[in-house]
Amino acid sequence: MDVAIMVCLCYFCISKMYKMFPVEKIRTDFPILQRQVNGKPLVYFDNAATSQTPQVVIDAIVDYYSNYNANIHRGVHTLSQEATDKYEGARIKIQQHFNAEKAYEIIFTSGTTHGINMIAAGFTDILTKGDEIIVSALEHHSNIVPWQMLCEKTGAELKVIPMLENGTLDMNAFDEILSNNTKLVFCNHVSNALGTINPIKEITEKAHQVGAAVLIDGAQATPHIKPNVQELDVDFYVASAHKICGPTGVGILYGKEKWLQKLPPYQGGGEMIETVTFKKTTYAGLPHKFEAGTPNICGGIAFGVALDYMNTIGFDTIATYENELLEYATRKLLEIEGTTIYGTSNKTAVISFNIERIHPYDMGAILDKLGVAVRTGHHCAQPIMSFYNIPGTIRASFAFYNTKAEIDIFIDAVKKAKMMLS
Ligand SMILES: *Cc1c(COP(=O)(O)O)cnc(C)c1O
Repeated sequence: MDVAIMVCLCYFCISKMYKMFPVEKIRTDFPILQRQVNGKPLVYFDNAATSQTPQVVIDAIVDYYSNYNANIHRGVHTLSQEATDKYEGARIKIQQHFNAEKAYEIIFTSGTTHGINMIAAGFTDILTKGDEIIVSALEHHSNIVPWQMLCEKTGAELKVIPMLENGTLDMNAFDEILSNNTKLVFCNHVSNALGTINPIKEITEKAHQVGAAVLIDGAQATPHIKPNVQELDVDFYVASAHKICGPTGVGILYGKEKWLQKLPPYQGGGEMIETVTFKKTTYAGLPHKFEAGTPNICGGIAFGVALDYMNTIGFDTIATYENELLEYATRKLLEIEGTTIYGTSNKTAVISFNIERIHPYDMGAILDKLGVAVRTGHHCAQPIMSFYNIPGTIRASFAFYNTKAEIDIFIDAVKKAKMMLS
């Protein structure tokens, strides 16, 4: 044991001394990275779809079901109290991570999509004909469809901030469509299809000047950036645990207190009430007003553990390392003739690309045979694909547990596939 700790400490010291990122050590935290696919070592480059899970998070899930599985907030017994303490403790960890002012401004959801739909439903009674909602052209479908549905219900009109060739938003066009009729502005912090980092602070400042509320989809930003919701001054921010080393089926909605007070509850049920009679029910205070029914207790707790894990490594350290991977992979990929990379501005470690005359799906299928997991298709962002006039792209998205050696395997696999397909 002592020897193990010493070796471990030395490893970190040496890494620090040489400013090396301890990726080999980190990889041992992820059991799935040891597996093979089609007889080849797994190279997992589909992190923008979902991230892999470190052992500490898996252990937290097993611990919950093995030792204190119970319903929360209503039991006087020991297990219920333990589960409640851990669940509410996770909420505080999340509050601190996102720098929300109050813990009850963090609402647990089942994920980003759920959080967006909660806000869309909440605005149904607020918007009327003549009001406008602005979304960006870089959105995930989950961030387009709920607003279209909201417009149909309320008579409000949907406007779109167009995108430019390099994958950024046309901010001059945003100035033009923003008006006193704008009631809501929606944008992702980072685009899942291209990795573009959007100017959230600028968008929020401008939207607030006309009195519009701002909802930011942080699903793709949170694995790479530690968002400070007070500094960004956004009104709402949503994210999913499964993209930040946590489990699926849990996420958060951050909302400024004044907005969460103003919006009606999303669902009726247990947990969200104060008193119930058949004449009238009064709602519970925040955050319970938005948390009807038994939540994903284990998931919420595991989400907190995942954030602890990532914060121990440090988001700045992660970003620096991922940028190295991004630059290396970009350089190697562009050496392959006929490669086009979409979205070339300031971005996270995502490469969306095509190779001349090769369908993304065919490339993806061969890469899988060679053990390399990438995403192919429209990435739930068809409007972006229409903009570039392509059916889809091949998307390689990196995480802090990926390596340059894996990128070499990926590049060789792309070359092989290209030869087979052309
Ligand atoms: C993944 C993703 C979503 C959807 O997240 P869910 O966890 O599936 O609800 C929404 N927006 C962006 C930008 C995403 O990357």
